Amino acid sequence: GEFWDGIPSVAEDEMFAMITTFKKDPFPKKVNLGAGVYRDEDGKSWVLPAVKKAHALLIDSPDLNHEYLPIAGLAEFTNSAAKLMFTEESDVIKRGQVVSTQTISGTGANHLGASFLSRFYLFNGERQVYISRPTWVNHHAIFANVDITPVEYPYYNAETRGIDFDEMLSTMNSAPDRSIFVLHACAHNPTGLDPSREQWTAIADIMLAKGHYAFFDAAYQGFATGDLDNDAWAVREFARRGIAMLVCQSFAKNAGLYGERVGALHVVCKDDQATKKLKNQLSLITRVEFSTPPAYGAKLVNFILNDAPLYEEWRRNIRTMAGRLIEVRKELYRLLTEELKTPGNWDHVINQIGMFSFTGISEAQSKRLREEFHIYLAKNGRISLAGLNTKNIKYFAESLDTVVR
Ligand code: PLP
Repeated sequence: GEFWDGIPSVAEDEMFAMITTFKKDPFPKKVNLGAGVYRDEDGKSWVLPAVKKAHALLIDSPDLNHEYLPIAGLAEFTNSAAKLMFTEESDVIKRGQVVSTQTISGTGANHLGASFLSRFYLFNGERQVYISRPTWVNHHAIFANVDITPVEYPYYNAETRGIDFDEMLSTMNSAPDRSIFVLHACAHNPTGLDPSREQWTAIADIMLAKGHYAFFDAAYQGFATGDLDNDAWAVREFARRGIAMLVCQSFAKNAGLYGERVGALHVVCKDDQATKKLKNQLSLITRVEFSTPPAYGAKLVNFILNDAPLYEEWRRNIRTMAGRLIEVRKELYRLLTEELKTPGNWDHVINQIGMFSFTGISEAQSKRLREEFHIYLAKNGRISLAGLNTKNIKYFAESLDTVVR
């Protein structure tokens, strides 16, 4: 009895629990603005046309089999994925400084990156990592899970609804030298606020001066501006400047391959000697955890990255998704400011970028939206814009208007 009695109860994951409750809710006008998953104008999950074609090619290929991938994954995929992130012409790629390992999507890349640092990073004092306040909730648990304490750096300023940039920089300055900072490569979750290029440059200056380590989480490449290259600017700039770094790359959102779990971890190493050592170390970790990564999604993305017409089509598909989200922002802004004359300033709805809008409403207001209006969103007021479309946006805007009055 004692064994079972000793297991403490924990709450279900907020986001996944919400999906279950939403599905059961019989209310006809219910709206799901919870998880960061793209939905099309009809509220449906979208299989990207480029992915559909890659799937057809893959299924018909005489080479298709269901063998294990190597421990580090499909090499052609991870190499192509690294080039997509850093470009083929970047020095780190040309010099063979990047170790790339296939992971269980972005979450797995975060875990493997954290696990690697937990084993080998020379912490200067406390075993800690700086994460933005707020950040993707899983960052807290992913680092705690490998005995690294997450501490927050200021990021969001609720008053200005902008980045608390001076506070962020001053925390970077006063942190012990060689601290690790988790940075969202683009389309910051949950705030929708990214540093400008000028601001990234100032961050890079401090990171270099202090010898800090950049832990880039790139879960939304393409979703900030609609362009894969634009959205990799910060990562490429940091690499160019020789900042110690790794990148967690996910194809869940930008290829719509959520459940296929396609991702990679890219660690920039000192030289090609270090690269060899690290490759085997990372494989050691993967081997005990899941042995080898899932093959299907990686094969799909590999097809797309190495076929010029498919690659162009994918880029267009990304523009379609990012473009629709921008239209949703404009329409929501128009409804609130012009049609409903909702009290308060709503400029942030159009100024923020990516999949989310950090509405700034209180937990109580968010709760009311859910309980009275059957609109499901995170407690912190974050909404996934992909859940809105021409059929439900007015209902959402009116409900939001009601709860903030
Ligand atoms: N990092 C951030 C900031 C995210 O928002 C997400 C997904 O929501 C992920 C990583 C990981 O997603 P996945 O494991 O599906 O690639």
